[in-house]
Amino acid sequence: MTSAIVVGSGPNGLAAATVLVRAGVEVTVVEAADQLGGGARSTESPLAGLVQDHCAAVHPMAPGSPFFQTLDLEEMGVRWAYAPIDAAHPLDSGEPGLLHRSITDTAAGLGRDGGKWETAFGSLSRSFDRLSPVIMSPLLRIPKHPLLLARMGAVAGPPPALVARWFRDERARSLFMGVAAHALQPLTLPLVTGIGAGIIIAGHAVGWPVVEGGTGRFTEAHISMLRAQGVRFETGQRINRLYDLPPTDITILDVHPHAAAGILAEQQPQSDRRAYRKFRPGPATFKIDFAVGGGVPWRDPEVGLAGTVHLGGNSGEIIATERQVASGHMPERPFVLVGQQAVADPGRANGSIVPVYAYAHVPNGYTGDATEHIIAQIERFAPGFRDRVVGLSVRTPAQTSAENPNFIGGDILTGAKSPLQFLLGPKLSAHPYDTGVPGVYLCSAATPPGPGIHGMGGYNSAQRALRYLTHRAAAKKELSTP
Ligand SMILES: Cc1cc2nc3c(=O)[nH]c(=O)nc-3n(C[C@H](O)[C@H](O)[C@H](O)COP(=O)(O)OP(=O)(O)OC[C@H]3O[C@@H](n4cnc5c(N)ncnc54)[C@H](O)[C@@H]3O)c2cc1C
Repeated sequence: MTSAIVVGSGPNGLAAATVLVRAGVEVTVVEAADQLGGGARSTESPLAGLVQDHCAAVHPMAPGSPFFQTLDLEEMGVRWAYAPIDAAHPLDSGEPGLLHRSITDTAAGLGRDGGKWETAFGSLSRSFDRLSPVIMSPLLRIPKHPLLLARMGAVAGPPPALVARWFRDERARSLFMGVAAHALQPLTLPLVTGIGAGIIIAGHAVGWPVVEGGTGRFTEAHISMLRAQGVRFETGQRINRLYDLPPTDITILDVHPHAAAGILAEQQPQSDRRAYRKFRPGPATFKIDFAVGGGVPWRDPEVGLAGTVHLGGNSGEIIATERQVASGHMPERPFVLVGQQAVADPGRANGSIVPVYAYAHVPNGYTGDATEHIIAQIERFAPGFRDRVVGLSVRTPAQTSAENPNFIGGDILTGAKSPLQFLLGPKLSAHPYDTGVPGVYLCSAATPPGPGIHGMGGYNSAQRALRYLTHRAAAKKELSTP
């Protein structure tokens, strides 16, 4: 029987395993950590009974992902839960920007910029079912819907700082800039808008849901489904060399390109190895899981209805602090993302104690303590927050990196999403999953379409592996034909 080994059990590794086992391949997943799931796990926060997402929390790219559409989430017992408002961006003065699933409601809240928001994102979000497979595939190929991709390029191509200037008021500018900051890159670079524009468009099409009961619920259900189909899982095994693995037909690496270069060593063509080694990490996050009595006392009550809150002040301030972080300096008031998953999924709270997750953008490998920066940034828009904190647990960049070797120096996006790395992954090729070693593929968030819970790196790389198996079988048949 044809066999495959998947190294790494993040969402991309599990997606690859799914495609392969469905094709009749015998699959083993090997994981370095003691727990399966990589960046898609849940954890218990400082107060017993509270469910917190370890890493990924909000999933705009999942429901519309071609891979997720192959899953029967209902049968798996997985349910999406939606906050009344997807994201909020409070300001020091003036009303907050609010991102609703409905583009009409979003536009209505943005006053004289409402029409511009609709022009930028409306038709793309209405075409999301056709757009999603295009933007979730490698871009160096003839696209299926070139006009749609060109329209996407018109929004995603210019730097966020330029796109923001198109809006007249700070409310729309900062709402946009807060989402664009998910790229963790200087916001004056071209193409960096891609991640933010992608999740705004996806949000208007399918929302920004959380998984009821925590992201880990999805992963556990996915793993149970795979086990039932015969996939084997081994934990606590970090793979450093291809020779550490038993012989197999296919190997899929859900690892960082640096790790892949080490694993493949001299078996990999020099040009590929060089490209993998040159792959640069991006800035990091410093994360805190809070237990908060009575929730966060936001000055603007609508902010309390949002699943995600972006804190960074106005668009100019966000541009400045993201630039500082990318150049290795810690700002006094860093960009902070707050996750209020319990707004969508009240079952995560314990009575009046609510789990709140927050992370600050910090320089890669930052060794300082950003706890006070995060609390002060929340306090700025929610006076009295500090007094409501009844417990907290901190995760530094070093801890993030130690727990998951894909997050080097605390870089949660598996590589800087600079224009070229974001578009192409670790090498310039129409086949970004090929490692240069026959039968071995890279599928982690370092490859297109990049970070997030969508499984598309795994899905696309496994399709590529199946094509290799077909060609190999045809070549064998030809050789054996007298
Ligand atoms: C704090 C934080 C918040 C985030 N928030 C969101 C969010 O809200 N929404 C969203 O969509 N995404 C979010 N992300 C990003 C998301 O988690 C990642 O993009 C996603 O998990 C990447 O999936 P992956 O399969 O490529 O790799 P990972 O999830 O990183 O998994 C890789 C796995 O491979 C294992 N591994 C690595 N090297 C080896 C080796 N040599 N041998 C064996 N095993 C190995 C690792 O231990 C890990 O388990 C967040 C991430 C973090 C850290």
